[in-house]
Amino acid sequence: MTLEGPLEAALSRLAETDVLLVALDFDGNISPHVDDPSGARPLPEAARAIEQLAALEGTSVALVSGRAIASLVEVSGVGDDVLLSGSHGGEYRMEPGAPPLALSAEELDVVDRLGAVLHDVARQHPGTEVESKPAGHALHLRNADADTALDAQHVVRRRVLAELPGITARPGKDVEEFSVLAATKGDAIVRLRDHVKASAVFYSGDDLTDEDAFRVLGDGDVGVKVGAGDTLAPFRVPSPTEVADVLVRLVELRSAVVRSR
Ligand SMILES: [Mg+2]
Repeated sequence: MTLEGPLEAALSRLAETDVLLVALDFDGNISPHVDDPSGARPLPEAARAIEQLAALEGTSVALVSGRAIASLVEVSGVGDDVLLSGSHGGEYRMEPGAPPLALSAEELDVVDRLGAVLHDVARQHPGTEVESKPAGHALHLRNADADTALDAQHVVRRRVLAELPGITARPGKDVEEFSVLAATKGDAIVRLRDHVKASAVFYSGDDLTDEDAFRVLGDGDVGVKVGAGDTLAPFRVPSPTEVADVLVRLVELRSAVVRSR
């Protein structure tokens, strides 16, 4: 299988690199978006490609998600050889059994107060839902009707800004997320790249927060935006199905390079 011209050429060059890091957003990238976040699963072709890439010499795979690590482990089903960054660069699993995130008592207090505000907004906006994470909370708007979702978005932004100044806001697609940590997916890419000593990085993702990751990519790296919307990524595919195609092709190209060494 080969892909369209420019992306195929970029992947071929990428596959030649010394140490490759393949970093992937989870939801909307290797797993189609679903109404119930706990029901999300990677596409089988993507899951297989991840397993194959992670097994190759000089090649590491990382999932970089807004989900908490615990949730990411549960839905992704990836092996221990896949690195994880959760909570938008706030949490890491660089090796199996790594300790969970430690927050100060002050930070935990802010997380609690934030949760109270979001639950309050959710109660007044039917269909919206709070997802709790170790360092913050997210208000999901996907299952509310359009007017309710829009009002909830305004109210939650205004209240958090007024009641919890200094907190980091991460607006996403159908989600308003807030965290006591200011880390981004860009920080995650920088840290993962350094951890595996990667000479080139592949990254793909579909949401606004993935732009932080695209921003830290450089010459020789490959960024792929999934779906519509402005992006810093040089390449774009329509959906997770095509992300799986890209990963399958990357397995073919990288395997050939590794075998010939
Ligand atoms: Mg995503």
